Amino acid sequence: MKRRLVLLGAPGSGKGTQAEMITRQFGIPVTSPGAILRREKDLETPLGLETAEILQRGDLVPDKIIVKLIEDWLRLHGGYGFVFDGFPRTLPQAESLASILSGLHASLDAAIWLEVSEETVRARISGRLQCRTCGFTTSMDSAKFADRPICPYCEGRLERRSDDDMSVLQTRLREYNTKTQPLADFYGKMSILRRIDGNRDRETVFGDISRVIENKVPA
Ligand code: AMP
Repeated sequence: MKRRLVLLGAPGSGKGTQAEMITRQFGIPVTSPGAILRREKDLETPLGLETAEILQRGDLVPDKIIVKLIEDWLRLHGGYGFVFDGFPRTLPQAESLASILSGLHASLDAAIWLEVSEETVRARISGRLQCRTCGFTTSMDSAKFADRPICPYCEGRLERRSDDDMSVLQTRLREYNTKTQPLADFYGKMSILRRIDGNRDRETVFGDISRVIENKVPA
């Protein structure tokens, strides 16, 4: 199914988990600037080294760098639609995306906003484990991984993300509240904003997202 979607929401709102489910169910390609930058850091590329400290502080990476990542990705894979996990996160990024897409005579189908309480964010972030290799995300509470923290998909090691520290989370939440929240207005005015209660379990949330993707939710 060809759809052009962006997934927005606070840290821990379930963007990565839902993006992965969307890809598996609908075959829409997903990309995440955060995941790309973590990989670049592990590979010690100039981009990874340049941005590592910013990620570690919980600040947002400059728009220019992120927009270039997305433009490059779209040039290679954009023909099949996309789900952007964690992009855009600022108004200039959203405007750049709109202008890139209009240059391709395309537009977004939906901006899906996963709404979560701060309590949910804290609980999820403090218990989150992520595969260093493929990005699969799970919770430390999951009995399956208690004794053997190994990714079920690629056998990579499941670890805590270094920016999932509670003091870094404060900065990430501040960035979200000040720079990302204004996008609700931006996409609201375009009539493509779809707010979904992300506090529920992943299958229930995915059910709502699926209805948006299948166009069963009125505009
Ligand atoms: P995420 O994996 O989406 O939680 O992103 C991890 C980190 O990557 C963020 O805290 C930012 O430092 C950086 N990052 C990811 N996406 C963006 C974006 N769209 N704009 C700026 N920085 C980003």
